[in-house]
Amino acid sequence: MCEPFIATSIVRNGVFFRILRDDPSPGDDKNTFSCRRIGMLGEFRPIVEGRMISRGIDRFGTGQPGASRGHRSHKGIDVIASPMQKIFSPIDGDVVREAFPYKDDPKMRGILIRGTGEYAAWEVKLFYVVGLFNGMVQAGGLVGHAQSLLSKYPGITNHVHMEVFRNHIQVDPRGPFRRCF
Ligand SMILES: [Zn+2]
Repeated sequence: MCEPFIATSIVRNGVFFRILRDDPSPGDDKNTFSCRRIGMLGEFRPIVEGRMISRGIDRFGTGQPGASRGHRSHKGIDVIASPMQKIFSPIDGDVVREAFPYKDDPKMRGILIRGTGEYAAWEVKLFYVVGLFNGMVQAGGLVGHAQSLLSKYPGITNHVHMEVFRNHIQVDPRGPFRRCF
């Protein structure tokens, strides 16, 4: 038996299709192909297994975009993640470097991913994640593990802080991640 295989891919109205050849058996000269919808072009994947849950209110505030942080506002979004939980890349991309959320605390780590292919306009920063510091990743591929924030903020809900940039401009992550919550 031959497995269906990916022959080629096309984009129609922003929807990414892979064209699968249904029956590659010898003697079939009709070359019948079927279109299978894979997902929206450049659609972000959740960074945790299953749906993402945004951090609710705790004694340190909330994790929603625009939430107050003293003199600055919170431009990212916080997604609940337990220490050592697996964290996945939301996009196909290159891990450019580690990213450090705090200049004065090198124990807290992060990852900067620059999109490639259909994600080329995007960059994503993931904070409180230890993992890759270079190399290619695929959307949905493992990039690291969540860190514990409890030693820094006792009582906080452990989470991964995400920031999203499109064409180098920071955007509200709820847009590209809308299907992940
Ligand atoms: Zn945050």
